[in-house]
Amino acid sequence: MSAMIVAENLSKTYRVGKVDVPALRGVSFTVEKGEFVAVVGPSGSGKSTLFYLLGGLTHADSGRVVIDGEDFTRLSDAQRTQMRKRKIGFVFQKFNLLPTLDAYSNIAIAQDIAGTNSKKDDELFQRIVGMLGIAHRLRHRPAELSGGEQQRVALARALINHPAIVLADEPTGNLDSKNSEVVLDMLRHSKQELGQTVLMITHNPEAAAYADRIIHMRDGQIVPESPL
Ligand code: ADP
Repeated sequence: MSAMIVAENLSKTYRVGKVDVPALRGVSFTVEKGEFVAVVGPSGSGKSTLFYLLGGLTHADSGRVVIDGEDFTRLSDAQRTQMRKRKIGFVFQKFNLLPTLDAYSNIAIAQDIAGTNSKKDDELFQRIVGMLGIAHRLRHRPAELSGGEQQRVALARALINHPAIVLADEPTGNLDSKNSEVVLDMLRHSKQELGQTVLMITHNPEAAAYADRIIHMRDGQIVPESPL
């Protein structure tokens, strides 16, 4: 196995007025290639901050993030954006689909942005929408889709550029238990089919149970086990 995500001694403190709010206090872990890892912990434990650092969406005060052998923290903003487009697929709690575009365009837009809209990727497109069971819903806009379908479209968008990593932030937070099950099954299944590494943030133990391994956080640190 080889490391796909390495977090090394990550620290981040927010300054609110004159008050320092420590969000991460020396977080280190490794996720191997092909692993599905859940990061769990109570609200305020630093999960979202970690998510933003791993996705290169914000800077750490200290420490390093190495993705697939490349040190994120040493890249310029432009290089980091490039790497994010090539290597990472994001899934969010609120789906973040564009309301005026149909499902097809919501997925294809990720190919346009990354410049991967070729014939070869069209085959991947068909495979992914087939795998996610949304091939018959592609001409519908988000408002015409159920929550579960919207999240499957968002997952297709995350997978369409064949990212090395999928970062999911509470992907089932807005779904009922049946749709949660479908989306989590899809995350597992797509990991097996497409071979990417998955890191999912959640506060839901049932969702975390789908992962190969659970990292527990509390008060900005990794702990052996965290009461949820
Ligand atoms: P979680 O995702 O586990 O709820 P967060 O990473 O959102 O944890 O928050 C960790 C800590 O950092 C909390 O104390 C939270 O209030 C604080 N925090 C998060 N984001 C900000 C921000 N933008 N400004 C100030 N404090 C923040």
